[in-house]
Amino acid sequence: MGYWPLWRLRPAALVYVIVVQLVAVSLVFAVILTTAPPTSETLHRFGLLAFTAGVVIVGTSLSIQLRDEVRRDPWTIHICYLVTGMLTLPPNLLVLLLLGPALHGVLGVRGESYRWMFVTAATVSATFVARAVVGWHEPQWNPLLLIAGSATLLLLRAAIVAVGLRLRRPRADRAEILGDPIDVLLGIVAAALGLLLAVAMELHPASALLAAPPMALLDMAGQLPQWRRSAQRDGKTGLVNAVHWDKLARAELGRASSRKQRAAILLLDLDHFKRVNDELGHLAGDAALSSMALMLRGSVRKGDLVGRFGGEEFVVLLPDADIPAASEIAHRIRSSTASLSVPARDTRGVHRELDGLTVSIGVAATERVGYELEDLLVAADAALLAAKAGGRNAVSLA
Ligand code: GH3
Ligand code: MG
Ligand code: MG
Repeated sequence: MGYWPLWRLRPAALVYVIVVQLVAVSLVFAVILTTAPPTSETLHRFGLLAFTAGVVIVGTSLSIQLRDEVRRDPWTIHICYLVTGMLTLPPNLLVLLLLGPALHGVLGVRGESYRWMFVTAATVSATFVARAVVGWHEPQWNPLLLIAGSATLLLLRAAIVAVGLRLRRPRADRAEILGDPIDVLLGIVAAALGLLLAVAMELHPASALLAAPPMALLDMAGQLPQWRRSAQRDGKTGLVNAVHWDKLARAELGRASSRKQRAAILLLDLDHFKRVNDELGHLAGDAALSSMALMLRGSVRKGDLVGRFGGEEFVVLLPDADIPAASEIAHRIRSSTASLSVPARDTRGVHRELDGLTVSIGVAATERVGYELEDLLVAADAALLAAKAGGRNAVSLA
């Protein structure tokens, strides 16, 4: 239990996650206890809807697996059939339908199990509030109410999750909290498809089967933002990778140059990092790199651009920073590195606190070097070599 990451959450985030889950569980019990048993007709509808969604999820999962790609939560499919269920099923069968997202969490979970439980709880609460909006006992087929209900499901679910993410990582940027614009569009398309499917099922329940191809297409489209993100990020540290950093840094330097604003670059290289790997193993080394990345993101302003440059090298672009500001930030990072304490396991699996890390930092600023990225990197690299030659654990200015 001690390693369960739930307990590592900040207290406010922990309380929030527990409250969201308690609300969801209470709602499920209240619904089960207060809704009349389903009729054979509603059971038939439920069966067709659940069968269609299940076949699509299994099919797309298999096709993703065959391509050795990482499966993303099929949340667009969940939204789609939940919107349909919200309009065509009694609340207790909606509970059964909500086993879909829960089941996917159980089968697909790796590590932080509280995450999928939290997202499922958010989905449960949002679905029942949405049902109340369209009419608890008998949904009203009024177009405005249908849109209001679907929007409630989408927005309330997103808002509950966003508050949790914000409490967990107060400094996370907007895209991490709210997702990409394409995620918003996918959500809207999923809800619209769910509404169309509900209308079609009112005409004939078997028309649920017709929704399988568009659902599959929606699910595959839902994988795209994930694949794009993984092409831009470094998996070990979650930082922007070198190629993407290069692209973002060029754009930022172009902006700074046209506005005649200053900017600076920090190039960081952990000292004697090979020893960490040799003494504690590569997994401990990886844990140190992750902690370093987290500390770096916490040490700079929101618009600053932190990237993983290479193995144990990091790079930071500081827009709107002059030489004194950049070297102050570099000194702050240097001393924060020295006070890092990283929980890790050594090669025998024994828990160890890894400390005593140090870093050398080269600083290059546009005031001296100009706005060309290559020139700034060459200058920062030369300054970094000087910091290493001077005995390491130091900041050197180009
Ligand atoms: P210096 O102070 O001169 O920088 O010494 P150093 O040992 O840090 O430098 P060197 O470049 O010789 O070694 C870098 C080491 O970083 C080698 C490699 O084992 C380690 N390293 C690079 N990438 C990773 C990684 O992703 N994970 C782990 N665990 N280690 C890495
Ligand atoms: Mg190195
Ligand atoms: Mg090094």
